[in-house]
Amino acid sequence: AARNAGDAVRGYVPSMGQIFLRRFQLVTQFRQALDTGQVRVHYQPKVALPGREVLGVEALVRWVHPEFGRLDPDEFVPAVEATGLVDALTSFVMDNALAKVRGWLDRGLRLSAAVNLSVRNLADESFPDRVAEALRRHDVPPRLLTFELTESGVMSDPERALPVLRRLHALGVVLAVDDFGTGYSSLAYLRQLPVDEVKIDKSFVLGMGTDLGDMAVVRSIVELGHSLGLTVVAEGVEEDAARDQLVEMGCDVAQGYLISRPLSEDRFEAWLRARTVR
Ligand code: C2E
Ligand code: CA
Ligand code: CA
Ligand code: CA
Repeated sequence: AARNAGDAVRGYVPSMGQIFLRRFQLVTQFRQALDTGQVRVHYQPKVALPGREVLGVEALVRWVHPEFGRLDPDEFVPAVEATGLVDALTSFVMDNALAKVRGWLDRGLRLSAAVNLSVRNLADESFPDRVAEALRRHDVPPRLLTFELTESGVMSDPERALPVLRRLHALGVVLAVDDFGTGYSSLAYLRQLPVDEVKIDKSFVLGMGTDLGDMAVVRSIVELGHSLGLTVVAEGVEEDAARDQLVEMGCDVAQGYLISRPLSEDRFEAWLRARTVR
């Protein structure tokens, strides 16, 4: 159930009715929240293994709600996804991310940005045109934009999602399968998708240190991904030991609290300066 940090501190557990009410409120308030600056994009770096080179960021949405305080995406994205407003959310995040990429290019930094898609975007035939328009408007090369999609998002309606994915791919943007290992994942399925990258679900990466099964899953995804010519990304990298194991397995990219938490625009810029200027 949705709970924010303040609720946890007060030991407050909402009833079903309250949860439903809050969900309704959030959906009705979201449009205005986008327009009034309550919704922000945070950025979490991705680095190339085995080194420290910053390749780009994942854009992650946050909502500072006037009544409920800071809401994480788990608390409002599912509600927003159930409505047509998810188009506005995706466009908002994509626009913010492309503006950042353009700004970095202007400073001589070639960093990419990844945006999370929802099922609805993949069912929307006009989505690829909106992406092409946004790339032109921000004057960003398509290779510097990645879309992360979940397997369930594709598998819920593959007949509709596949043509959209193919058109996105034809534009030259990078496509990544998110949360890999948690869903229907199979080799046959991955081969049929026009994807470039697979992101190992963080539950396996977090468990690697204590669970040999998780370790085996991570290792086999790295091997599977590479055998299909995909870039393999591990998220949820919190500890040096996990990073070292990923390097040993040949994983290409790492993302996680060990490198940095998701940061506001300003804090990300400071983090980047501290990394690149020595
Ligand atoms: P995700 O796409 O799997 O994003 C990764 C989540 O893992 C993020 O949670 C991130 O903060 C968290 N994370 C990163 N590194 C670590 C780590 O080392 N340890 C742990 N324990 N967690 C880590 P966040 O930001 O709360 O986002 C949750 C989910 O909300 C995302 O999962 C994504 O599915 C969704 N989401 C976020 N932004 C958007 C968006 O703009 N649009 C859509 N459609 N969904 C979004
Ligand atoms: Ca929370
Ligand atoms: Ca993601
Ligand atoms: Ca993920």
